Amino acid sequence: MDLNKIITELEEKNPAQPLYIQAAKEVLETIADFIKENPKYEKYAIVDRILEPERIIQFKVTWVDDNGKIHVNRGYRVQHNMALGPYKGGIRFHKSVNVDSMKFLAFEQTFKNSLTTLPMGGGKGGSDFDPTGRSEGEMMRYCQSFMTELQKYIGPETDVPAGDIGVGAREVGFMYGQYKRIRDEHVGVLTGKSLNWGGSLIRPEATGFGSIYFLQGMLAAKNDTITGKRVALSGFGNVAWGAALKLEELGAKVVAISGPDGYILDEDGITGEKVDYMRELLGTRNNVVAPYATKYPNAKFVEGKKPWELKVDVAIPCAIQNELNLDDAKALVANGCQYVVETSNMGCTADAINYIQSQKISFAPGKAANAGGVATSGLEMTQNSMKLSWEREEVDEKLKAIMNNIHENCLKYGTEENGYINYVKGANIAGFIKLADAMIEQGVAY
Ligand code: GLU
Repeated sequence: MDLNKIITELEEKNPAQPLYIQAAKEVLETIADFIKENPKYEKYAIVDRILEPERIIQFKVTWVDDNGKIHVNRGYRVQHNMALGPYKGGIRFHKSVNVDSMKFLAFEQTFKNSLTTLPMGGGKGGSDFDPTGRSEGEMMRYCQSFMTELQKYIGPETDVPAGDIGVGAREVGFMYGQYKRIRDEHVGVLTGKSLNWGGSLIRPEATGFGSIYFLQGMLAAKNDTITGKRVALSGFGNVAWGAALKLEELGAKVVAISGPDGYILDEDGITGEKVDYMRELLGTRNNVVAPYATKYPNAKFVEGKKPWELKVDVAIPCAIQNELNLDDAKALVANGCQYVVETSNMGCTADAINYIQSQKISFAPGKAANAGGVATSGLEMTQNSMKLSWEREEVDEKLKAIMNNIHENCLKYGTEENGYINYVKGANIAGFIKLADAMIEQGVAY
């Protein structure tokens, strides 16, 4: 495989799509040697085929705000790859959403879903609609308008969306209601649903829980333990919340969370009711973390900064792509950080990852560390198919087993001669094998 040629062609074919190129490049660079050793993948042109999404849908979403003003937004669904199961992946409402971010997220999702070993293909959807400050009525009307178009392209055996940034259980409910109204079917077409009507226990916490289960694997691989570790999280949404809950339970100390406005440093630890308060903050839809320091005056709000300047043992980005750059990586390493667990999708820039790895710090890529969310969505789909609900313990055990298995696969394909575990390489190769073999077995269909 001629890596340089593929990357040049990729750049020519996708001008002005830096995120997609970043995500694809990372995979290509880490699987190139493996492909050379296994010529069947070249014979079946698997790389070219994986780099092209199966379908990209873009649509108009028109809606009316509380003041009667009419707005026009864009909606997207990128159906990237169906070889392993129905397209599966969240819906993001954020002003940064465009075809580039949707494509990179759908691409990442395909590898991530493959890693879970559950029968899910990869897709992603969203809109450039910004939920900040929007009333409940506006959110409902937006979700309804969005689903009126999206419902044409999805279904429980075709494409199963879920939440992501800006889309939580409430929005999933509004979208589900509209799907039902138009299609007259009560089916498992979305995951992240409420418990009362088909949701799964643990789903809200799952991304955060899964990421900490993965961290436990990273610690065990270095004969280290989680007890007493100082942790900085970014974000204050569902993902950071789940991680904070699990870290507290396991005896680590979360000292930081963040928002677009800055970060909170709480040396007393973000525990107990303070973790619950994160959800209240999110519920306000104001998208600021500063009120935490007003409510808990021992904590400090540092405006306009990221928590990566703090002295911590573990850094867990939980917010958005490229939120941790080379300067942040250097600051973390200089302060003695030993583990970086990327829990947002592509949360770290390529040069940040290279630097962290060059310093032999353990680095988990998002597609491995954050796979617990979609894995639990997969478990929700299974429960919906069986028309029953599992107990909390049962879902949690399955989630743990999936995360352990992903960690094992990373060790298998990512351990280098000097003993350093290259989790990026391990995750990419493991995700690739399952997907590529399925594509070969299914003939030249896509
Ligand atoms: N948005 C989540 C992710 O990035 C979850 C997707 C899902 O549950 O389908 O993996």
